[in-house]
Amino acid sequence: MKPHYNIPVFIPHLGCPFQCIFCNQNKIASNRGIPTRAELITTIDEHLDTIGTSGENIELAFFGGSFTAIDRKLQEEYLSAVQPYLKSGQISSIRISTRPDFIDDNILQLLLRYGVKTIELGVQSFSDEVLKASGRGYRRDDVFKASRFIKSFGFKLGIQLMIGLPGDSQALDMESTRQAITLAPDMVRIYPTLVIADTPLELLFQRNQYRPLNLSEAIATCKEMFLEFQQNDIAVIRMGLYPGKELLSPGNIVAGPFHPAFGELVEQEVFKEQAGMAIQRYKVKIKADSELIILVHEKDISKMTGNRKSNLDYLKSRFHLQDIKVRSYSAYTRNTVGLAVGNESEPLYTLTRKEFMKLRK
Ligand code: SF4
Repeated sequence: MKPHYNIPVFIPHLGCPFQCIFCNQNKIASNRGIPTRAELITTIDEHLDTIGTSGENIELAFFGGSFTAIDRKLQEEYLSAVQPYLKSGQISSIRISTRPDFIDDNILQLLLRYGVKTIELGVQSFSDEVLKASGRGYRRDDVFKASRFIKSFGFKLGIQLMIGLPGDSQALDMESTRQAITLAPDMVRIYPTLVIADTPLELLFQRNQYRPLNLSEAIATCKEMFLEFQQNDIAVIRMGLYPGKELLSPGNIVAGPFHPAFGELVEQEVFKEQAGMAIQRYKVKIKADSELIILVHEKDISKMTGNRKSNLDYLKSRFHLQDIKVRSYSAYTRNTVGLAVGNESEPLYTLTRKEFMKLRK
């Protein structure tokens, strides 16, 4: 399978009339400004030079959250600038992200005409109370309407959710997860809420009226959501904000569960629990003084091992084992955990992700 490349283009929503509690739109807009058509073309050319391959699997991604809420002329200017690349096949598709309340027939017709394939909705929550407390300016019914509309046009649908917003709870996050699943999105992103400087949320935080999740709470909630989506065959394509220069600029993150590899931490937790279940189920056949080998797909080795071998240390101590090692097993697909003992190279026991999810219910 050829690797997928995204050419990211950030379009700030200048003059956005909303004030989402977590957003420092003024700072973002003043730092970046909106790209001109010429700048967009330069960005595309530079990325294509770096990627150095032809267009299959190369996608132009307009992100910034409100593409269809910006001036329509500007939308057309950007989309028309990409057309020569689509026609020549250098770029295969366009992806945009936007708000659920800026989707209607005219907008979708326009996006269809210009070859947009994927629309990601910044949903954030399916709870009207959380949406209200976060200043999002729409209700969950708008999300349902927009999502169904997007699908009826044949676009791929992405849903972005946030956890830890004011008024939120793990129970509400799981409810949002279940609601999102009913819409059968093609992909999901999950972002823990961070307190960013110069936002209304920072004020609440300074006044002790808002407490962000800590890192372990955020990991625990994301893990449950991730597994729920995985069980329903919905791809979670990102967990945690992209640790770009702007986000990481000194003083920008005031508080909250930030980690540059947040998604990796969540998946490490999943592997830890899955391996724990495998050992538990096979325990009687493992002698305490034997060396246990955990077998996984080669790309899952670091997720299984954990940061600084934390998963292996945890399992070793929990099951009083002499030693645990992780090895790749070529016959395994991703997210599978197998057990072998000593010098055995074949698994004695295998637990797939699907089996694990069924058993933990
Ligand atoms: S996150 Fe909210 S406030 Fe910020 S630009 Fe988007 S809609 Fe506007």
